[in-house]
Amino acid sequence: MAAQTRPWNETLKPEGIKAYKQFVAERDKQVASFLEFDPLRAQGTSNERAAVSTKSKTLEGLPFGVKDNIAVKNFHLTCGSKILESLVSPYNATAIQKLLDAGAVPVGKTNMDEFGMGSSTDNSAYKTTNNPHDLTRVSGGSSGGSAAAVAAGLVPFALGSDTGGSIRQPASFCGVYGLKPTYGAVSRYGLVAYASSLEVVGALAKDITILENVYETIKGLDGRDQTSTDPNDFPLLKKEVKTVGVLADRSGLDGMQAKSLEISIEALKKAGFAIKEVSLPLLDYAVPAYYTIASAEASANLARFNGIRYGNRPIYSENPDDLVRQARDQGFGDEVKLRILLGTFVLRSGFQDQYYLRAQKIRTAIRNQFDRAFEDIDLLLLPVFPIPAFKHGDLGMTAFQQKLADKYTTAANLTGLPGLSLPGPVLESVPVGMQFMAPAMHEHLLFQVARALQSSLPSADPAAYPAVYS
Ligand code: GLN
Repeated sequence: MAAQTRPWNETLKPEGIKAYKQFVAERDKQVASFLEFDPLRAQGTSNERAAVSTKSKTLEGLPFGVKDNIAVKNFHLTCGSKILESLVSPYNATAIQKLLDAGAVPVGKTNMDEFGMGSSTDNSAYKTTNNPHDLTRVSGGSSGGSAAAVAAGLVPFALGSDTGGSIRQPASFCGVYGLKPTYGAVSRYGLVAYASSLEVVGALAKDITILENVYETIKGLDGRDQTSTDPNDFPLLKKEVKTVGVLADRSGLDGMQAKSLEISIEALKKAGFAIKEVSLPLLDYAVPAYYTIASAEASANLARFNGIRYGNRPIYSENPDDLVRQARDQGFGDEVKLRILLGTFVLRSGFQDQYYLRAQKIRTAIRNQFDRAFEDIDLLLLPVFPIPAFKHGDLGMTAFQQKLADKYTTAANLTGLPGLSLPGPVLESVPVGMQFMAPAMHEHLLFQVARALQSSLPSADPAAYPAVYS
């Protein structure tokens, strides 16, 4: 099988499609990363494709997977939820349209935690996705299907969304790169909203050059998303990385995670970067602030899924109230229900200043602390998750433990800053990634350091995937 690690080179020509489908069907049996796979659906006729753009097609012929909360015309858009089981998107998200214009081809929709809520992809209403390195472990979440599909070699890149770590955490679990761009750098038009002020569309890839090309393609101002901005309008304060800050407080890290960071620090020193310890004490408040804000926004965003405007409608109901109650009761999973309840709780009248407004103040304070830190450093190195990919089910982490473990990823969402998860060394059976954060709109610094470390870090080599490649 090793010879077939890049099946897509030939496959997007009609004669290759059958082989590509077989390849993915065979390999994805164990990994279960795709909810829907059809390389022909989005291609259109060759004339249509030729007419799409006169721009240079930087991603010509590259197939890609799309998290199932991003709209791709004629594909389902379930968000991993039963409530949207029958929804087929009539339009393309802006990021998808830009990729199509650059010649890339969306080939399928990837599995995810329902509405992006979770860190394992076990919260999908459809199936659980397995880590390609060790099938007994989770792929991470919520973009776990995208990470696993890339890691298993089914697609060269995939789109995901990151509201609290959902691109970076599965990327780290599966040993691929995962970019969470600056808030607003990529249009959210066509992304089904979970927590609008925190989330962003980003990408995962095994190859850093492909990831950079994808980011360059999808970024930019979009009239359909009022929060989008043009990264080119920002003054670039830093052109290159000289000093890398390392988070001083690394308590509570699993031994493998700590080791991965030590290896990264050594690699950074070897590559000639200066290292400086940085302390960010407010990071301890990131998780409560994040879950307060994310749940509040989710309770408002998910109100539209009521069986009338969107969502499966129950077969019989007594009256409109009963219809909505049944639609939500049958359509939403437990985690989603919990967060909607939590969101309405923190927003209820008379209590907003105790929870929601306090969380917003903490959010501003965290952002100020990061801004101050970036006066002395160019990038910050920190963990992605305190432990490597955990086991499925009871042997793994409880939903509450998973939330506490979002400490290192949620800061980028609360502050809007970009973060890149890098594939780390394979320790025991799974890779253990690490994360770099940068000042707003300084994604180029993330790519610079990733490239500099490429040769010195032991990477998650496909040969180390016994479960899938044997
Ligand atoms: N673990 C985070 C959550 O459950 C991840 C969210 C995300 O980025 N979609 O909310």
